[in-house]
Amino acid sequence: MAITLPPLPYATDALEPHISKRTLELHHGAHHKKYVDTTNQLIEGTPHANKSLEEIVHATAGDAKSKKLFNNAAQAWNHSFFWQCMKPNGGGKPPAELEKRIAADFGSLDKFRDTFVATGAAQFGSGWVWLIARRNKLEIVSTGNAEIPMDSGVVPLLTCDVWEHAYYLDYQNKRDRFIEVFVQKLVHWEYAAKRLAQTTPEKELAL
Ligand code: FE
Repeated sequence: MAITLPPLPYATDALEPHISKRTLELHHGAHHKKYVDTTNQLIEGTPHANKSLEEIVHATAGDAKSKKLFNNAAQAWNHSFFWQCMKPNGGGKPPAELEKRIAADFGSLDKFRDTFVATGAAQFGSGWVWLIARRNKLEIVSTGNAEIPMDSGVVPLLTCDVWEHAYYLDYQNKRDRFIEVFVQKLVHWEYAAKRLAQTTPEKELAL
């Protein structure tokens, strides 16, 4: 069972002017595809060959011998998740229940946005910034390279890719501006709200 590259949930020009067609073509068609292809090469003929992507990520996390496979499989998962965290005409306000939770845990939606941008901007080098639920409390965290917040009891609700390939063509070195546009104009709040309502920690990586 090979891992597949899922199609983008929208056209490559659907997030313009915030993310250009060229960036999405390269990011999905070259970067994400390479992670999927490399994962498939690495699992061929091994006990991982018949596992799902989520199972491979879990099986290799924290195992130094499987670092290359973890990095590629986790990046394949992260990108599939990231595409779903955005939509054309996204941003704005979350559904009422999620907005209430954000206000309770961060003070306000604006404070959430400021902290999300600052946390992503402060991630040194490549990585990801996340909104997670940790045993029912919302938190913002960043991770380096391919890492996924997957401690027990943690459910990722949203992520933004802060690798340079995610924004350099459109924003050059202004990573903070890219993350700000992500939270203001692109974020798919209904998707995050659905994950918060439906995903249990036991199934935290189910997309
Ligand atoms: Fe990326």
